[in-house]
Amino acid sequence: MTRVHNFSAGPAALPEPVLRQAAEEMLDWRGSGMGVMEMSHRGPQFMAIAAEAQALLRELMQVPANYKVLLMQGGALAENAIVPMNMLRGRASADFIETGEWSRKSIAEARRYGGVNVAASSADTKFTTVPARETWRLDPNAAYVHICSNETIGGVEFHEVPDVGEVPLVADMSSSILSRPVDVSRYGLIFGGAQKNIGPAGLTLVIVREDLLGGALPCTPTAFDYRVVADNDSMYNTPPTYAIYIAGLVFQWIKAQGGLAAMERLNQAKADLLYGTLDASGFYRAPVARDCRSRMNVPFFLHDSRLDAEFLKGAEARGLVQLKGHRVVGGMRASLYNAMPLEGVQALVAYLKEFEARHG
Ligand code: PMP
Repeated sequence: MTRVHNFSAGPAALPEPVLRQAAEEMLDWRGSGMGVMEMSHRGPQFMAIAAEAQALLRELMQVPANYKVLLMQGGALAENAIVPMNMLRGRASADFIETGEWSRKSIAEARRYGGVNVAASSADTKFTTVPARETWRLDPNAAYVHICSNETIGGVEFHEVPDVGEVPLVADMSSSILSRPVDVSRYGLIFGGAQKNIGPAGLTLVIVREDLLGGALPCTPTAFDYRVVADNDSMYNTPPTYAIYIAGLVFQWIKAQGGLAAMERLNQAKADLLYGTLDASGFYRAPVARDCRSRMNVPFFLHDSRLDAEFLKGAEARGLVQLKGHRVVGGMRASLYNAMPLEGVQALVAYLKEFEARHG
């Protein structure tokens, strides 16, 4: 068996020990005589698996007691509707910071449920920056302020939590969650799909401050009413049981590595190595402003796009896969989620230098 270095933006590589343990437990989870996929979500075994996953996540992220952790389905794009349905709470509109493709999608979807104020946008820099906080035109009566903490396609990341006063801050953290410590208490709500740093697609994580629950629009599907989900411990409907089990194994793995501080050190080292190599060369170019660069998703260009196909082919031959950039941006993109080891980035950097020496 040969495993590649997988730079996919998501679904993405998982830690190998997690996959090995899942394989071992596939037919018989700890003497139960059945696999996790075959368990009732209300049986004692799965209830224990879900409770442990929840507890580990709370521990890793140091989630304060007045926040609920909800394990949902539908992905981040469904949350683009579910968030306004639950969070408008009788207010006319919400504020949005437009920093790229994913926040734009959030804006478009929210317009179906209420007023939208785009308080700041980096469209003028082709989404290669985060608009400076002092330029934001926030509405003090907004129901919430929405940001995308890390724009997976454009590779733009908020390096600081913006201060938005008393208005709840809502963050789409799909592609940066668990990559470093966060102060959950600065947010009203955090959401994200699991398929990057958490586990398999199909699980959506929502962390929400308790006092914000209970005001969902009447049209909200019951299964997507945060109050109902919270009151039923995320088991109002059948949750994505296998994805929750794998997420629990990933949380254990992160804890064993030293928690989120250790993840941050590793992720910073990987990002520094890759951006440093790109910046030092006249052959490659990283388009995002330095103080807004994502540590998770690194878009870059070759100086001549006619070499793109050959670059990708050579990369694949070396076991460096899924490096093609998103069609909206073009070029290349290397995603460096938690499960990407430093050796993967070292192998990519060696290939970048080799390719440049041959074609530069
Ligand atoms: N937001 C961000 C930041 C993302 O990276 C993605 C997926 N790449 C989405 C939203 C959409 O997530 P999903 O496909 O799980 O709905």
